[in-house]
Amino acid sequence: MDQRISGRTKLLGLFGTPVGHSGSPAMYNFSFWHDNIDCAYLAFDVNVEGMKRAFDAVRILNMKGGNFTMPCKNIAAELVDKLSPAAEIVGACNTFVNEDGVITGYITDGVGFVLNLEKNGVSVKDKNVVILGAGGAATAIQVQLALDGAKEVHIFNIEDEFLDRAKSTKAKIEERVPNCKVTVTALKKTEDPAENVEVLAEKIKNADILINGTIIGMKPYHEQTLVDKSLFHKNLVVADTVYNPEKTRMILEAEEIGCKVVGGAGMLIGQGAVNYKLFTGKEMPIEEFQKFKAENK
Ligand code: NAD
Repeated sequence: MDQRISGRTKLLGLFGTPVGHSGSPAMYNFSFWHDNIDCAYLAFDVNVEGMKRAFDAVRILNMKGGNFTMPCKNIAAELVDKLSPAAEIVGACNTFVNEDGVITGYITDGVGFVLNLEKNGVSVKDKNVVILGAGGAATAIQVQLALDGAKEVHIFNIEDEFLDRAKSTKAKIEERVPNCKVTVTALKKTEDPAENVEVLAEKIKNADILINGTIIGMKPYHEQTLVDKSLFHKNLVVADTVYNPEKTRMILEAEEIGCKVVGGAGMLIGQGAVNYKLFTGKEMPIEEFQKFKAENK
């Protein structure tokens, strides 16, 4: 029996489906144990239809906080009492905190990504950024870039349902953060990156940071890249959201050219650390957790 659990232990949890593979319970429960915080974190397999009732339970059980994952991030934004500025613009939240019965929703994917860039010595303030993708991760990053002072954000996406989302993100950013210039351009859907060279060339030439926020590069698309390596230049920081594989084809090719590169794994940890601070007010014991994980493989 876990001797940490008491009559006063506060509950936190993850809501979404599937959640069985999630690393969040292990990471947060280790951290609570490490920091001697009387909380426990569980994962609940809930679909969109079940979210309203699940949220009633959050209130009745007075849960302290938690996270939402796919496909529940959008519905969650409608159920919380308040939204952080970024979550309001994105229209989704992945984290919630319950303070005296008032539940605030946050979107921390973008914060985690920007924090990881900063940890790697890259600031987004006044920068010109090209970002590929307009799905959940990319949208959160685009909004955070604007809120954190990026000068220009150029969004590229293939002509699928996410392209409209990019246009709506552009409109929302322009309304809330007018100093940030946003453009949206369609990419060709192709496995040959050379076919998009013309579309991408000018914006990447003038960019400080290039970000891949699509599923391309991730297994089973790990042999693909959206950016032809002829477009990389030495002043460009190349960052990926993909963390499996740790180094995508795009990252490996950018490294060959001599670009500074930042992989996706740090975003995942950055996000966890941001959430932990929201839950507890403390820095997450990241290094200790990584050591514990390595020793208990
Ligand atoms: P999503 O389904 O919301 O978005 C998918 C994106 O991929 C869209 O922009 C779509 O247009 C694009 N896309 C799909 N097929 C494509 C193709 N053939 N060519 C070009 N673009 C294509 O997904 P998401 O949740 O935003 O995840 C996107 C990526 O972000 C994934 O690789 C995921 O692993 C990564 N991610 C990383 C973290 C992290 O912590 N590192 C967190 C969340 C997501």
